[in-house]
Amino acid sequence: MKNIIITAMAVALLFGCKEQTGVKEDLIFSKGEKITSDNFTGIAWLNNLVQADSINQNAVGSVTFEPGARTKWHSHPAGQIILALDGLGYYQEKGSSKVILKKGDVVKCPPNTPHWHGASADTTFVQVAITGREKGETVWLEEVADEEYYSGI
Ligand code: MN
Repeated sequence: MKNIIITAMAVALLFGCKEQTGVKEDLIFSKGEKITSDNFTGIAWLNNLVQADSINQNAVGSVTFEPGARTKWHSHPAGQIILALDGLGYYQEKGSSKVILKKGDVVKCPPNTPHWHGASADTTFVQVAITGREKGETVWLEEVADEEYYSGI
């Protein structure tokens, strides 16, 4: 009996958490593999959808940021396009205010512009990023400090 109660509580907790993150489990792209790179803070997942090659030099990936997860500050030599698929996230360019991203929002990040993107503190965020590789690899910078992450929320 005790086990049944504990199981019921665990199931309730699980469903409660899923609801809290505000992200459906049956999105178009699966969330892929957990990102182990230290260019990310918190837990994030990557599904590499398209590898860049010599003919089409865009890399396309779906990234799922769990609540509070984000990239470090970074820039892309050929810029980046971010398509917001679900949840609630942030995008911020150095020197500008944070922009809230929700399902359907599109960001065109200019080349060589330091910025970060990620989830809000209590909601998962799912994005597809299209990153031009013709001018070189992403340049990774410092972590997004908590003071920066939480400012203006
Ligand atoms: Mn970026």
